[in-house]
Amino acid sequence: GLILGIESSCDETAAAVVRAGRDPLSNVVASQIALHANYGGVVPELASREHLRNIVPVVRAAMAEAGLKYADLDAIAVTHGPGLAGALLVGILYAKALAFGSGKPLIAVNHLEGHIHAVLMEARHRGETPIPLPLLALVVSGGHTHLYLARQGSAADAWIYRNVGRTVDDAAGEAYDKVAKLLGLGYPGGPWIDALAPHGNPLAVPFHFNQIKGPPLRDGRPAPNKKAPPQQEGPRFDFSFSGIKSAVLRYVQASGMREAAEHRQRTLAAMANPKTADALALCDPQTLDLIASFQHAVVGILIRQTLAAAEHLGARGIVVSGGVAANRELRHRFQHEAVQRGLPIAFPSLALATDNAAMIAAAAWPKLLAHDFAPEDMGATPQLKLG
Ligand code: ATP
Ligand code: MG
Ligand code: FE
Repeated sequence: GLILGIESSCDETAAAVVRAGRDPLSNVVASQIALHANYGGVVPELASREHLRNIVPVVRAAMAEAGLKYADLDAIAVTHGPGLAGALLVGILYAKALAFGSGKPLIAVNHLEGHIHAVLMEARHRGETPIPLPLLALVVSGGHTHLYLARQGSAADAWIYRNVGRTVDDAAGEAYDKVAKLLGLGYPGGPWIDALAPHGNPLAVPFHFNQIKGPPLRDGRPAPNKKAPPQQEGPRFDFSFSGIKSAVLRYVQASGMREAAEHRQRTLAAMANPKTADALALCDPQTLDLIASFQHAVVGILIRQTLAAAEHLGARGIVVSGGVAANRELRHRFQHEAVQRGLPIAFPSLALATDNAAMIAAAAWPKLLAHDFAPEDMGATPQLKLG
């Protein structure tokens, strides 16, 4: 059960070998964060070019670290969506070439299913009792804030996913990145806000989100600009983060925090390797209060909506994954609230929260068992859905 996984959907070129969807033998990630930081976000053309540069050394490093030859593998798995078309193609074409050259089967993996499997793989590796089905998965990252109900499919190892919630505007990680940028912190913003938030008062700035309280969010609220939720049977548990982002912007403008933010941005950008202490020294108490309050509100929305969905849909456990799952306040509060309700909950380790290929190799394991292989003409599916 040795699977080489390859991931290139966004701004990480990654390769990993995982045995039986449980034991990672290697996990190599070449992040392009430094490259895109200059632009405050991922630039698609640059991402593709960088994937082309990195894919061969990254895959070789993953094989070398695992101490394997291609002949030892049982399959090669690759992310086929969702993501940036040009970026996805680099991984897909290389995986196809490897599969063809070594005569190994090729498996197509949905990036979102990968994020969920990162958590399952680690739990299996630690020998824990699996989260019982049906489970609710919150995938929360820079591009996604989605809730999926996963239940047992007909095949022993296959799951069936149903999307029961998604953001109608910004993803949670996107809100983190935008607010961090507004406050002159580095990119990506999540880790900065995570590190600074404990130094402020989370209740200092009361952000009001009455639309989130009470019954689950529904369609038909303030016209979502681009990502309208699909019409679907059953209740929806959608998210919205553009409101809080605008509220932070208004607060910054009204309290004249702009100039200090620009100074902070210039000072941090001039440092070779700025640390939390450097950012902290550049933040006044009011800024720290704003950061803490923003995070408190976002984490509150994520937890409230997920627990509402879990209760309503009868989920027996919760899996949280994606880059924002690295957030400490989210982990602590979520753990506490889920346990209080008797719901088992699992998070990825920090290394496997953000994009990686071990999660792709792990998600491919049930597909290998089911002989669910990719067709020869498999291409990139940038808008690929789960479920
Ligand atoms: P996709 O949505 O396709 O998975 P992505 O590259 O945005 O793409 P990830 O690499 O999983 O996905 O996550 C990156 C996001 O996670 C960024 O928005 C980043 O700010 C956020 N993030 C990372 N660490 C933290 C943290 N500790 N707290 C909050 N947000 C974080
Ligand atoms: Mg990423
Ligand atoms: Fe991701």
